[in-house]
Amino acid sequence: MVKITFLGAAGEVTGSCFLLESSKYKILVDCGIFQGNDINNLNYGTFKFDPHEIDFLLLTHAHLDHCGLIPRLVREGFSGRIFSTKPTNDLYSLVINDAAFIEKEENRSLKTLYDGASISKSISLFDTVDYLQKIYIDDSLSFEFKNAGHIIGSASISVYIDGVSILFSGDLGPSTPLILDNGYGRYGGSYDYIIMESTYGNTSHDSRSEDISSLKNIIIEAVDRRGNILIPSFAVERSQELLFIINGLMKNKELLSIPIFFEGRESLKFLNLINKYSYLLSKDIQNMMKNGEHPFHFDNIEYVHENDRSSLISANAGGVIKKDRRYKLQTKIIIAGSGMCTGGRILYHLKKNITAQRNTIIFVGYLAQGTLGRKISDGAKSIYVDGRFYRVRAKHYKFSGFSDHGDREDLLLFLSKLSSVPKGVFCVHSEVNVSSDLKVEIVKRFDTSVNIPSIGDTFILK
Ligand SMILES: [Zn+2]
Repeated sequence: MVKITFLGAAGEVTGSCFLLESSKYKILVDCGIFQGNDINNLNYGTFKFDPHEIDFLLLTHAHLDHCGLIPRLVREGFSGRIFSTKPTNDLYSLVINDAAFIEKEENRSLKTLYDGASISKSISLFDTVDYLQKIYIDDSLSFEFKNAGHIIGSASISVYIDGVSILFSGDLGPSTPLILDNGYGRYGGSYDYIIMESTYGNTSHDSRSEDISSLKNIIIEAVDRRGNILIPSFAVERSQELLFIINGLMKNKELLSIPIFFEGRESLKFLNLINKYSYLLSKDIQNMMKNGEHPFHFDNIEYVHENDRSSLISANAGGVIKKDRRYKLQTKIIIAGSGMCTGGRILYHLKKNITAQRNTIIFVGYLAQGTLGRKISDGAKSIYVDGRFYRVRAKHYKFSGFSDHGDREDLLLFLSKLSSVPKGVFCVHSEVNVSSDLKVEIVKRFDTSVNIPSIGDTFILK
């Protein structure tokens, strides 16, 4: 018998975790944290399985909602092997250490997800694989990682277990990624079941060119008001896309040269990681780098990894720091995590900037229900951070065209490029109304059954 249990990202976007079982093996695909409403029980509660019994963990990519509970899994007894691509392994170390630092700094809960010993042990359990490298455990189990086009190193994972083939899509990038290579087995293959991310399953992203034009106008207006621009964003991928776009606009003289501060304790390490794996970037960007131009590291950008420095940047919100030529324009772009404003340095900058009308907040990623980012984006009049209310007076905008997730058509394209129609599709990683809409489209276009599992649901696949 082969069965799958949905332990997270089922009826919601975060907390990806799927348990696949045969008579011989227990395999987890992803083990991520929940973000948003009522998450404490989900993040700190007992696992619905015995971590000692898990043989393997397959990790699609190193976003926290896919990997953030791995240290706790290890603390509670998991000692099997963790398979991921090499960039995901490197990124995991950065992301988890950063999350641990933020947890310690913010100290909002007596319970902790992270401790040094579990983090170190989890890192030691990794085995890395290349895209399209087939891993055979034995006759009953093999798997393969394929490029998902979402963030660097991200993968869809096909698992062959006791004669059943299952493709875990992982988070899927847009069909025309801006900075990533679109090869390495991005599409195709034939599987019995697809575990399909559906984050934007009922949405058409705005076209990228329209978004670039709007972004340009918003930045021009912010410069006119001499206000700061805050962009909450995770440290990899979408941030680099924005830098690439903004730098392009500046190079073309469509925007004045504005100082950009890319914040994060590990920000330079993230940049180094992208340099290390530049062969996974688009050919255009690789050529640019060969010609000595760096798409994400140019004259007016500063990678800020010290809190003191970032305090100086924001404390002077909209003002002028003398003797530093880069501040003359007064407007600064500050990119800092977390993307959903659930923690990290962006909170500091929000507190300093959100109450002034001249400032601007630009959301470029998914905002889960209940997160501070979602509240601001939904029009909250005030926000509550660190024991204080702050009136929301800054202008705020939300873009979807820079998303590192595909939209409805991208998801349907992914299914249409399979070489056979699967027996079943499970829509995960989305709010229920979104996956319900996507289900209607999938059923209309493909002759297959579609399920929308809830947390804890188990399905027999064979
Ligand atoms: Zn992701």
